[in-house]
Amino acid sequence: MKQRPDRDPDRLMRAILRRAPVGIAVIDYEGRHISVNPAYADIYGYTISDMLGESFLVLFPEEARPSVLARHQGFLDNGDQLGSEWPAIRRDGSRLTVWSNSVSFPSRPGLSDRLVYVLDITNHKKAQEQERIANTVYQTTSEAIMVTDADRRIVAINPAFTRLTGWSFDEMEGRDAQMFRSDRHDDAFYGEIRRTLEEDGFWKGELWDRRKDGEHYLRETSITVVRDVLDHVKNYVVVFSDITERKAAEDLIRWQANYDSVTGLPNRHMFGKRLAQGVQQATADHTITALLMIDLDRFKEINDTLGHSAGDRLLAEVSTRLKECERPGDTVARIGGDEFALILTGILDIDEVETIAREVLARFEAPVEIGYERVFSSASIGISLCPRDTQSLEELIQNADQALYAAKASGRNCLYFFTPALQRAANVRMRLANDLRQAIAERQFVVHYQPVVDLRTGQIVKAEALVRWQHPTRGLVSPATFIPLAEETGLIVPLGDWIARQAIVEVARCRNMYAPDFQIAINQSPTQFRTAAFSGLGWVAELARHGLTGKAIVLEITEGLLLNAEPQVMANLIAFRDAGIEMAVDDFGTGYSSLAYLRKFEIDTLKIDRSFVADLDGVGLDICEAIIVMAHRLGLEVVAEGVETEQQRDVLASIGCDHAQGFLYAPALPGEALEALLREQAARSGEADNRWKASAE
Ligand code: C2E
Ligand code: MG
Ligand code: MG
Repeated sequence: MKQRPDRDPDRLMRAILRRAPVGIAVIDYEGRHISVNPAYADIYGYTISDMLGESFLVLFPEEARPSVLARHQGFLDNGDQLGSEWPAIRRDGSRLTVWSNSVSFPSRPGLSDRLVYVLDITNHKKAQEQERIANTVYQTTSEAIMVTDADRRIVAINPAFTRLTGWSFDEMEGRDAQMFRSDRHDDAFYGEIRRTLEEDGFWKGELWDRRKDGEHYLRETSITVVRDVLDHVKNYVVVFSDITERKAAEDLIRWQANYDSVTGLPNRHMFGKRLAQGVQQATADHTITALLMIDLDRFKEINDTLGHSAGDRLLAEVSTRLKECERPGDTVARIGGDEFALILTGILDIDEVETIAREVLARFEAPVEIGYERVFSSASIGISLCPRDTQSLEELIQNADQALYAAKASGRNCLYFFTPALQRAANVRMRLANDLRQAIAERQFVVHYQPVVDLRTGQIVKAEALVRWQHPTRGLVSPATFIPLAEETGLIVPLGDWIARQAIVEVARCRNMYAPDFQIAINQSPTQFRTAAFSGLGWVAELARHGLTGKAIVLEITEGLLLNAEPQVMANLIAFRDAGIEMAVDDFGTGYSSLAYLRKFEIDTLKIDRSFVADLDGVGLDICEAIIVMAHRLGLEVVAEGVETEQQRDVLASIGCDHAQGFLYAPALPGEALEALLREQAARSGEADNRWKASAE
């Protein structure tokens, strides 16, 4: 058969060598390239002509050369060798991996050269490495992985899958993945997953599932569809992790954001949402939504005396009782320390609100048993109605708060509906609070002094500093009105400081001019004592500046302050005590009286509240006598407040009371008036002295 020229075997062979994707070279026994094809030169980044005569060693990195040489020598000695992988180096210095094999090639007579063929397997190696990493991840990841075929039969699982579900591969292989279905999801749910997979090739979500031991758990799952080249579903890859605990933690956080942990009731945040719903409902249904703000009376006292865990139990019991008044659709919430709210919805008649509010008050009549203690507690309720009073959420709360304020002010254990008059009163308070700020700057305050008389001698021996507010338009405003406001706003601290400094100046004058042992008592609000900087105010230095010691002033404090003697209060008490300043407990007998603290805090004086003095014809007498006996036993002096009649004075003197203060002697007076009294007194005793001296002569 005649061959066409282009079918000439030699030419064809050369063409093949030129085009072959395999690198082919002949290397002589000294390791020089004798012949290379283009693929060979290409692999190493050389031109053919550059390669010819070049040692094959340059193709290998330094560290590989000794073994390459050994290989070469071995070949020369023993002939053909199996192929192997080599690290190699291109002309430009970049690295590659080659697979090469050599066979003996008798190219020249008597000499055995080497025919080498080479493949660049760099990419293949990289792919292999990637695969190895992927497999490591698959084996070690904490996410469970399951692969099924197109019919959802399990073909592979990873170790995490076994750890998480309890199922081994032997148990799983070939089984239908639907065996994991939980009855917590319905068919529609699974249908939806299937549809999404068909459309998007991917689904992600949360699934309830069962472990081998039957336990349900929640898993976060992603399913990916793997398709073959013909776009047929080949596998489903299911990756999931157990999120039961995380979910529980999230639920707890959500719960805590909305509920109070002590009582389990909705908290302020949740209350806001429910009230908003209530307001909406009232508008939509033309019904009434009522907001009852409920505040426990004297909760702080109970908390302070019996301790916080007892306080918590009281709150829990209160919440149970409030829940008993709740109707379907209503909400009981705890919105502050001792403040609760009841939202009533769907009310048709305002009387209903009052009935329920009275029921709430009645629930407090039975005492709460806490350990061995029986605690009596009462509540005050302020009520505001939507839409009658307002349709605004904020105003509804404000109104109910104002009504609550009125309920508390009127003696607690009662309920108040919001009225425009209350609104006005609240406005007045607010304006007054504003005025108060200015009043300090504009020095609208004056301090008056009410004399305190020694019942044995009838002499004025002390005075109590009582502040007065000369309001530019309102006239004289009573401290009973503005002191609570000053406390609420914190203004009491600068105001109290100013009052004390006035009193110090006054007592210095009295002592220097008329009565060397004179004392002035200064009222202290608890807020002042709880303020950190209080003891550093420098009153002691101010006293010293006038040549006085701590003895010149007495601080009047309240029983409640001692009951709740936090570290800051203690520190302040000690600082004053160290400076020699005396302490008196004001309005004694009206609060939570305890004998222990009188000792503990080294109190000097008790001031009997004027309500007992006013009742000397009744039980007041016994109470006064008991206080006096007890005080003297403990080494304390007693001042009776509010003495208005001679009869009261005589009774008090007869039962051993030390001092008296009241309108019988004088109201609170300007400093000059007090000094005038002291001047007269000094003159009288001077006359007496003179008479005594004269008679002695
Ligand atoms: P308090 O410390 O118990 O002061 C005694 C109150 O009884 C004074 O009322 C005084 O004017 C009044 N009073 C005195 N004698 C009689 C009397 O015979 N009959 C009647 N019915 N009342 C009498 P005031 O000045 O209105 O002060 C009321 C309260 O305001 C004080 O009660 C005190 O708690 C507080 N306060 C007054 N000044 C200050 C102050 O400078 N600082 C602080 N933190 N509170 C003050
Ligand atoms: Mg007082
Ligand atoms: Mg008093």
